[in-house]
Amino acid sequence: MIKPDGVSGNYSDDIKRIILEASFNIVKETLTQLDKDTASAFYHEHSSKSFFHDLVTYMTSGPVLVMVLEKPNAVSHWRDLIGPTDAQKAKISHPHSIRALCGKDSQRNCVHGSDSTSSAEREIKFFFKDVVVPGDIASQHDEL
Ligand code: ADP
Ligand code: MG
Repeated sequence: MIKPDGVSGNYSDDIKRIILEASFNIVKETLTQLDKDTASAFYHEHSSKSFFHDLVTYMTSGPVLVMVLEKPNAVSHWRDLIGPTDAQKAKISHPHSIRALCGKDSQRNCVHGSDSTSSAEREIKFFFKDVVVPGDIASQHDEL
């Protein structure tokens, strides 16, 4: 997902170019505006965190571009490509990562990536009811 800061900062085309150059297939995409309930449900695992309220405000601040990416070991390859959560740290430790390119800090980090095959399955179904997730996705061994 390209988060609101990535979309409003006009990074979508650059990020898509990086995605295609890394040999991902973009299976589906949709530009959508999250409301508070949807953003809260998407990030429910963080609902007890101190940053949760601000996270929901950020995620509802403008449109997001949601994509289903396909590639062998897509989850771990995408996490490698986006870099660490804190964009300031990414600029130092992973200067060629997407978060280093367009992120600002530990909140406004430009992009989202599923952290496991099981969360990828949940998140794909969350946005794309009609996408059939491969039956063996949860049995692949690229959990992070
Ligand atoms: P990631 O997106 O790298 O998987 P998390 O799942 O831990 O990171 O957090 C979800 C999102 O919440 C982050 O991408 C970021 O936007 C926000 N976030 C995480 N940690 C912090 C923090 N310490 N302060 C503010 N926002 C945060
Ligand atoms: Mg996460």
